[in-house]
Amino acid sequence: MPELPEVETVRLGLAKSIVGQVFKVPRLLHPRGLNPKSEVPVAALAGAQISSVHRRGKFLWIQTNEQLALVAHLGMSGQFRISQPEAHIHKHLRVLFPLSDFHLGFIDQRTFGWVSVGQAHGGQVPDLVSHIALDPFDPNFAPKEVVKRIRASNREIKKILLDQAIISGIGNIYADESLWLAQINPQTIASALSPKKVERLLSLATQVMASALAVGGTSFDELYVNVNGESGYFERSLNVYGREGQPCPRCSGPISRIAFANRSTHYCFSCQK
Ligand SMILES: [Zn+2]
Repeated sequence: MPELPEVETVRLGLAKSIVGQVFKVPRLLHPRGLNPKSEVPVAALAGAQISSVHRRGKFLWIQTNEQLALVAHLGMSGQFRISQPEAHIHKHLRVLFPLSDFHLGFIDQRTFGWVSVGQAHGGQVPDLVSHIALDPFDPNFAPKEVVKRIRASNREIKKILLDQAIISGIGNIYADESLWLAQINPQTIASALSPKKVERLLSLATQVMASALAVGGTSFDELYVNVNGESGYFERSLNVYGREGQPCPRCSGPISRIAFANRSTHYCFSCQK
């Protein structure tokens, strides 16, 4: 599933290529491509010019000069791809956005992703994104506040890292990697961790996501690619995620995989306490 570094890679690619383009008439090709909360059909974007591309956590939005924003969540396998109008139609294309000079497609094999169109003035966060907490890349992210909120919880630390209302952008891969770097067992109750430990965890989570962003993200299941169809390279730098049974790079103990919070959790039993 695309997490902050992957979604930011997509945002950078979109910002580079689509700003200034004008929407022709978008076409919804699969009903699940559109979020039921969309205020208007995708065709309402026709004639609007793209002014900027934004992200918070794993949510993207494309702002237009018509005070309409196209919001998107990539879900498990959503992709934005740029193509020439004469190119063949991808079999998992869910929404087609013909633009002035080329086509933008929303492709999604597993159909957990969606787009939505609604009112938003420039500089305003669209309604569908406003309940999402700031992510660590946001200039207004306040680590001390987030540390307090995390430590106020009696839930396990991994569950909190995944809670997009407390801190956004972190998913299963970067939660496991951050906890390994911080040497914290994923099932530790958050309130039992010292403020210093939680602060260090947030800083390591930010660092690992920045390193992943620098190489275009992690294309673990081959469903994530950037707007030009290229994979990211961070998979080769993962320390625990997807490495069950292999030696821990720090202590050589075996990496365990357990089912936890409805997902796979990878960690080292020996050095994550
Ligand atoms: Zn270890």
